This record gives sequence, C-alpha cells and structure tokens, in this order.
Amino acid sequence: MSGLLELIDVQTYYGNIQALKDITLTVGEGEIITLIGANGAGKSTTLMSISGIVPPRAGDILFMGRRLGGVSPNEIVALGISQVPEGRRIFPYLTVTENLDMGAFLRKDQAGVKKDMEHIFALFPILAERRNQPGGTLSGGEQQMLAISRALMARPRLLLLDEPSLGLAPIYVRLIFDIIRRINREDGTTIFLVEQNANMALKVAHRGYVMETGRIVMADTAENLRNDEGVKRAYLGA
Ligand code: ATP
Repeated sequence: MSGLLELIDVQTYYGNIQALKDITLTVGEGEIITLIGANGAGKSTTLMSISGIVPPRAGDILFMGRRLGGVSPNEIVALGISQVPEGRRIFPYLTVTENLDMGAFLRKDQAGVKKDMEHIFALFPILAERRNQPGGTLSGGEQQMLAISRALMARPRLLLLDEPSLGLAPIYVRLIFDIIRRINREDGTTIFLVEQNANMALKVAHRGYVMETGRIVMADTAENLRNDEGVKRAYLGA
C-alpha cells in the first residue's frame, strides 16, 4: 500500500544506542494513525525521525513519494509536516497571538494566515479570549491547545502529535481528543498520534501500530487492536 507517509526499514540511533529497529509503517491520506507502546519503546524517536530532528541512520522515509533523507527540519515543515512535541513547548513570554504567528513563520500568504488564525480561534474559543495573554500564564490544557494550534498554523498536510494528553486533567483530555477528530474530519488533516493513553487513542484512530523496544510488533485496525486480548492486558488496563 502506498501512503502519504511511508517508513521503510527505518533505523535510528542515539550514539551507539539503536532506538528504532527496522520500522516499517504507512500513513494514508486522511487517516488518523496511532502509535502506542510503553515508556522508552521508541515512539517519540519515530516522530523525531519523521520530522528530521533525529535523522535515521538507515532506511527510507517517504512523504508524498519524496525521500526525506538529507532534508532539514525546516524544509520538512515547508513540505507539509508539523510536529507538536511532548511537553507543550510553547513560547511562555509571547502572547497567544504571537505564538500562533510563530507557527506560520514559513508562510508568505498573510491573508491566509489571518484567516487560519480566526479558524483556530473558532476551534478553541478559550484561546481567542486569551489572545493577548502570555502563553506561560495559560493552564496546562490551554497550553496544549496552543501547541496544537501553533502547529496547525503551518497548514500541515500531516500533523505529528506526541502524547498530547500527557498530564492533562480529564476534561482537557476529552477536549483534546475531540479536537483531533475535528481537525481530521473537518479540515482533512492526516494525523499521526503517539499516545500512552491507548484507550482514547484507539477510539479516535482508524488504524494503529504497537511498538515494543524499537520494533513494530502489531499493526491492525484500531477496532481490532482494541479487542485484542494481548493489547487489552498490556495497554488498556483490562
Ligand atoms: P516515552 O513515552 O517515555 O517518551 P518513547 O516510546 O517515546 O517513550 P523514546 O523517547 O523514543 O521512547 O526512546 C526510545 C529509546 O531511546 C529509549 O531507550 C530511550 O532511553 C532512548 N533515548 C531517547 N532519547 C535519547 C537520547 N537523547 N540519548 C540517548 N538515548 C535516548
């Protein structure tokens, strides 16, 4: 199957430590794909390999058929891939609006940027209310909304989300997953979601991959994974 994004036998290292061992996976246009797994399995490394922050040592990553080997992280953003890193790293001293502007730094279409900002404010009314407030004064959940919104300002075709629900109050967890669904359905953005909250992730995703110690050990529809006894025991707390 050919997809919007394809990883073929990707191997990524930190010095001598091999974090990814022959990762092969596909993300189709319009899909929400989730990657689940325990701490240290290699989920974040998979995202950072795609966004070019930790380039793979071997294997291929193809986006719209184009090989990403040797392409810089900025160029990868310009090609249409935006990443929301773990830990909602917003700019605390910049206002909400300024944070959103930073997400659009590669864009030249000022009218489009303004329109997209209004769209973001419609998706997240709380950010509209706080548009002149420094990012650092927002609550954890609001900062996560801002981090996702900033990534959306680049108009990505593929959005990479690293543990968006981590450490958030349950009400924000529901809101964030709801927004993920809407971004996908209403805007048609393809989403690659890394999560430890496998329960929620497998509810919003179409398909999923399970990762253990640097390898993909299962690939199936989200529904089949949700009903799998091994997955239930290991990741769904059943
Ligand atoms: P978590 O949910 O804890 O973020 P993860 O599945 O995202 O886990 P990674 O962060 O990708 O896992 O880590 C994969 C492996 O690579 C782990 O063994 C980890 O210790 C190692 N690793 C990650 N970052 C580095 C680094 N900067 N230097 C050395 N080893 C690293």
